[in-house]
Parts: sequence; structure tokens; C-alpha cells
Amino acid sequence: MPSNKLKNLRKQAAQRQGGRCFYCELPMWDDSPREFIVHYGLSPRLAKRFRCTAEHLEARRDGGKDVEPNIVAACLFCNTTRHKATHPVDAARHASVVRSRLAKGRWHPPQVKAAFSKGTGPPV
Ligand SMILES: [Zn+2]
Repeated sequence: MPSNKLKNLRKQAAQRQGGRCFYCELPMWDDSPREFIVHYGLSPRLAKRFRCTAEHLEARRDGGKDVEPNIVAACLFCNTTRHKATHPVDAARHASVVRSRLAKGRWHPPQVKAAFSKGTGPPV
């Protein structure tokens, strides 16, 4: 269970980042995915990866603390991908990996790109 303090730091970070993931820069949802799913027309399964999570720039296992300068908001997928690695890389390195793979269309599945590139305009 994340502490309230961490939750607040996450919300502040998400706000600073305009609700976008620190790594892939795609929109995230926080409390409930429902509007997100409706708005972007994503499946609930795909929407799950865009849940807003607190990401420690300096990983907790390396002694990273729950303090404002160490917390950014990242989508669940980018966050877990970094920490699932056998040798987790630092945040800056992960950001560059994510962005180069994203540019090649090899980070999120194609449906995701299609959904977000439909943009925020009204449904047609
Ligand atoms: Zn992300």
C-alpha cells in the first residue's frame, strides 16, 4: 500500500508533468480508468498500463527516498519495465531507451498509438 505521502508526491508530480508519463510522455489516469477508456477508446486491458504510478528516480533499492525531488509520475508499464530488468538502469537511461523504442513503434502496442493519435478532439 503506498503511503499517503507518496500518493501526494505522485499527484504533484503528475500535475507538474501535465498528466503525462515521465518516460513515454503519454497521458495517464489516476483514480479511475473509466473516463480514460471512454476518451481514448482503449481496451481496459491496455488502459491498465497507463495507470499513474510514483516512480523513484533513484530506485528505492538503491536508497532512493520518498521525497519530492526523487519522485516523478510514470505509467505503470514504463515503471515496471524499468524495475523488472535484471540490472535496472538509472532513470535517465531508461528514459532514453523508452523514447528511442517509442520512436520506432516498439514500446506500446500499435493500438495505443492509434488511440492517442486520434487526439483529444471530439469523437467523430
Ligand atoms: Zn510511460
